[in-house]
Amino acid sequence: MNKAVMCFDVGGSFIKSAVYHGDNTLTETGKVTMPADDWPAFCRALQQLLNAAAPYLTEDSPVAISAAGVVDPRADTILAGNIPAFRGRTVARELSAFLQRQVVIANDADCFTLAEASAERGEGQSVLLGIILGSGVGGGLVINQQIISGPGGLTGEWGHGPITRTEFDYQGQILHLPRLRCGCGQIGCLDTLGGARGLERLYQHLLGRPADSRAIIEQWLNHSADALKVVTLWSQLVSEVLAVVVNTLGPDRIVAGGGLASVPELMARLDEDLRARILRPCRGAIIEQARYQQQGGLLGAGRLARGLT
Ligand SMILES: [Zn+2]
Repeated sequence: MNKAVMCFDVGGSFIKSAVYHGDNTLTETGKVTMPADDWPAFCRALQQLLNAAAPYLTEDSPVAISAAGVVDPRADTILAGNIPAFRGRTVARELSAFLQRQVVIANDADCFTLAEASAERGEGQSVLLGIILGSGVGGGLVINQQIISGPGGLTGEWGHGPITRTEFDYQGQILHLPRLRCGCGQIGCLDTLGGARGLERLYQHLLGRPADSRAIIEQWLNHSADALKVVTLWSQLVSEVLAVVVNTLGPDRIVAGGGLASVPELMARLDEDLRARILRPCRGAIIEQARYQQQGGLLGAGRLARGLT
């Protein structure tokens, strides 16, 4: 029987904690505000959450962290724009010294994908692509139950690169889309148009008025012609880039997380457009909804540390 693992899900706003048990289950143990610009306060917050979970742990239970940002396991750094506390830190090494435990850290999208890979239905699958359609576009790649982090910790980032096209034929009408500057420094990344904020930008650009992503989806579900135009273009943009990823990696399946992925009709539409564009024959759906929307980060972190116990 594996020992318990202390897990943390660290984002720009909150730290969530849970104990991962050897039978692949979690006990959630706490949630506190993230002191995003204060490293010593962050260390103390983890220690307090760890103390609160002490009844489940042994002295040598390892710590596993699912973190927002670019996690580079070789350099032991985390680059997260909204968490200045990580700047200049060798995060795992310093936390390990502070907490007196082994510490492993992975990106939250990678942890999400690992959690899904180890879900019962995915056991034995060899290549799993996790796509996150949250405020932007992210992802992770897990092969044979191992996170592929790659040089610099940058794998599965299918939302970045000057990859979106600017002209679409929509029912005989040529529509022009903007190429927007992305947070990564490039112009025309899918990240700027493919997530919830992107859907809103498309709506504003095409219709000349604002709406939030939930309202847009609701309008689309209610058969609004305007929203149909926006969602059709969104799905085309996202599926075109995703088709290249599928043709390149050959994932057995794709698991989708993030806010937009919680709308089954939207994922069905994206799946249909994707299957029309990939080379391989595909009878059933290739995109599936995530099983662990909320707990994916914690569960994946626990799985990650399982080898240490
Ligand atoms: Zn970018």
